[in-house]
Amino acid sequence: MSARNYDVVVLGGGSGGLAAAFRAASYGAKVAMLEPAPLGGTCVNVGCVPKKAMWLAADLAERIGLARRMGFDVPAEPGLAWSTLLERRQQYITNIHSSYQKRLDETGVVRISNRGHLIDAHTVECEDGTQFRAEHIVIATGAHPLKPTLPGAELGGVSDDFFALQARPGRVALIGGGYIAVELAGVLRALGSEVALLVRGQRLLDKFDAEVADQLAENLRLQGVELHFGCKVEALQRQHAQIRAQLHNGPEQAVFDTVLFATGRGPNTPGLGLERAGVKLGEKGQVEVDDYQNTSVPGIYAVGDVTGRVTLTPVAIAAARRLMDRVLGGQSQARLDYEDVPSVVFAHPPLGSVGLSEEEAGKRFGKVSTYYSRFRPMLQALGQGEVRSLFKMVCVGEDEKVVGIHLLGEGADEILQGFAVAVKAGVTRRQMEETVAIHPTSAEEVVLMR
Ligand code: FAD
Repeated sequence: MSARNYDVVVLGGGSGGLAAAFRAASYGAKVAMLEPAPLGGTCVNVGCVPKKAMWLAADLAERIGLARRMGFDVPAEPGLAWSTLLERRQQYITNIHSSYQKRLDETGVVRISNRGHLIDAHTVECEDGTQFRAEHIVIATGAHPLKPTLPGAELGGVSDDFFALQARPGRVALIGGGYIAVELAGVLRALGSEVALLVRGQRLLDKFDAEVADQLAENLRLQGVELHFGCKVEALQRQHAQIRAQLHNGPEQAVFDTVLFATGRGPNTPGLGLERAGVKLGEKGQVEVDDYQNTSVPGIYAVGDVTGRVTLTPVAIAAARRLMDRVLGGQSQARLDYEDVPSVVFAHPPLGSVGLSEEEAGKRFGKVSTYYSRFRPMLQALGQGEVRSLFKMVCVGEDEKVVGIHLLGEGADEILQGFAVAVKAGVTRRQMEETVAIHPTSAEEVVLMR
């Protein structure tokens, strides 16, 4: 069969794939993008976007409680039409699909609604047998949620199933201690579910600063999430309409309406024909890339979650854009710097973090100095809320260069971006101190840490 010829073929139309396709097209390249599922990948369909919609609803539920305690005449348990929330969420997502499709049409990127795999270093074949040849092939096929292998695991869902819930679940077990487990636990609790968070290790969020993660755990407890550390799930069994979890070190009441695993994600590499093309894979099946997103085969590149490196949407996008700038845009040194990537855990309140935790900074630099602000935000105080904020700054060296900022508190998600610029630019503690505060805000505490 004769193959169709392109300059660039992209496998995957998620965050990384779309960014690669659009940037390649901006340099005048002839681009085909293969994507069998709705446009936007994990982020738009079963990740950041629907998650943030649920977080916003949960945030509103909490604020309604604060408003009531401040004198507003609202019922103690205001009802939520879950179906309306899902409709609004879906409408938002549908609008994103349309705007991506419009951009594909405008930029001339050819979208193929089919899965692809490699035949050789320059040829991709679709499930229907159509072949595409290109000088450059970008692998951006993302990752999928993993479940542990244990008896009855099929009774539990994963984050994709959380987004498919058609009504608020009653009693929920969330298994895992990473950011997805924490976020889903917080949302479900705020929307009225009973939630047990079952964590195998001794702490939450092991890539984040330990002290700040401990405060986040305390906030979850104050909100009524049951937290169980050192808890091992051994099996799940059906018990009438519910699920019984066999646990080591878990709650006494181990019967749940819904069980969700948030126990990690694996790269979408099986069936891609990568080994046949000579592309080297890592231990967990991820595509191995160098600092420039090159795989072991010239002309084949990989970006985003499939590489297993800092699995966040803006990282996939930035890596893809830099890659196309280098390969097609004549910027021979363009590459993404994976240091100081800011990220937010959408807990209630959120945790925003950039740079190194105190533990990591200690390992890398030896001596570190830390500065703090612990406070009760004004709205929490007025509304008799319990939740506390904790801001922490980690500095190193004689000039006290700021190498980490960790903000757990209201507005941290919005506050952090500007400070991430400062950290990336090498800000020192003195420069932070010399910056005049904006009063009265939570953000001012970042420049007032002691
Ligand atoms: P994806 O977006 O997953 O896209 C990969 C695409 O490839 C998919 O559409 C898939 O259908 C397609 N594909 C797979 N195999 C093939 C094939 N053989 N041929 C063609 N196409 C194929 N990140 C953030 O930055 N902020 C957040 O708040 C955030 N929240 C998240 C919440 C959840 C619950 C989850 C699961 C993830 C979240 N993430 C968040 C992570 C973020 O979604 C990912 O990092 C991002 O989507 C990765 O983009 P990607 O392009 O690598 O992969």
